[in-house]
Amino acid sequence: MSKYRVGVISGIKEITTHELELKQPQGKQVLIKVDSCAICTLEQRIYDGVMKRYPFAGGHEVAGTVEEVGENVKNVKPGDKVAVRLLTSCGECYYCRSGNENQCEVSFMTTIHEGFGGPGGIAEYMLLDANRVYKMADDIDLAHASLTEPLACCIHSINNASIQLGDDVVVIGVGIMGAFHIQLAKLRGARVIACEVDETRLEVAKKLGADVVINSSKENAIEKVKELTEGRGADAVFCTVALTALAADSIAMTGKLGRVVMYSSFHPDNPIELSVNKVHYSEMIITGAVNPGTSDFLIATKLLSNKLIDVSDLISGIEPFDQVDKAFEKALDPSTYRVIVKCNE
Ligand SMILES: [Zn+2]
Ligand SMILES: [Zn+2]
Repeated sequence: MSKYRVGVISGIKEITTHELELKQPQGKQVLIKVDSCAICTLEQRIYDGVMKRYPFAGGHEVAGTVEEVGENVKNVKPGDKVAVRLLTSCGECYYCRSGNENQCEVSFMTTIHEGFGGPGGIAEYMLLDANRVYKMADDIDLAHASLTEPLACCIHSINNASIQLGDDVVVIGVGIMGAFHIQLAKLRGARVIACEVDETRLEVAKKLGADVVINSSKENAIEKVKELTEGRGADAVFCTVALTALAADSIAMTGKLGRVVMYSSFHPDNPIELSVNKVHYSEMIITGAVNPGTSDFLIATKLLSNKLIDVSDLISGIEPFDQVDKAFEKALDPSTYRVIVKCNE
């Protein structure tokens, strides 16, 4: 029986490699040879000790190639390129059964590799149920395919804002999530206004299609948005930066009938002041976006496979499995977008 390697976060800034036995897929199982695993915020927080959850087999943004399938697998075959949905829901709670599995009460606790909790994407192989595996186009770059999960999160967010053709949409922050929001809002036919304090990121925003960019360290973003919309304010605003002041700004720059999506989670969760009358008279909707549903993930695979979304500017580094520590250090650098571990190199 052959063995495969798994990278496990075993303490603060500590990753250990473990060898486990490689098993054959049975029934509806699929054996994936992992190509790319992107390092998301969750893994970064555990690695640098903000969240102490050890040992943790991290890595939930994964793409690879099907190596072997169980006898009852229909959706993929050996050689297929696939993205993997690792943060799955229970299927049994109230929200899963009402079709809102992104609100699952017990979700996202997963063990892929025997003895190590966590999604387990930093590994040479993964044995998975077929329903987690999504076929991608044959010509897709698997590093790009590994960004299916973060893209799916943003698709969920974009859907919550019900963008209409011609809408004025503001995206606050041009990190990777802001960058996805810009591209998706453009696909929906909006005029996109990007706000950011970093000039390099404003350049990225322009390249990805933002129609107007505002450097909010130099200009008053609320006034500028009002000016651009004949005083009305935006139709939709996405707050992708976890700064309380920006959450308040998001609401302030939203116009009548507008939608505000609090995309980021806030730690600490400081309250903001809110004019209830502004909400009452404007009929604005203040909502959030948390976790993608199954259909968001499926749509993300289609957008990437059909090259409707380009993620090449959002990959800031690629490291082989043996340099996984280096990949994490790079990922922690705030100037980077996604850093990818090539798990079989
Ligand atoms: Zn993620
Ligand atoms: Zn559930």
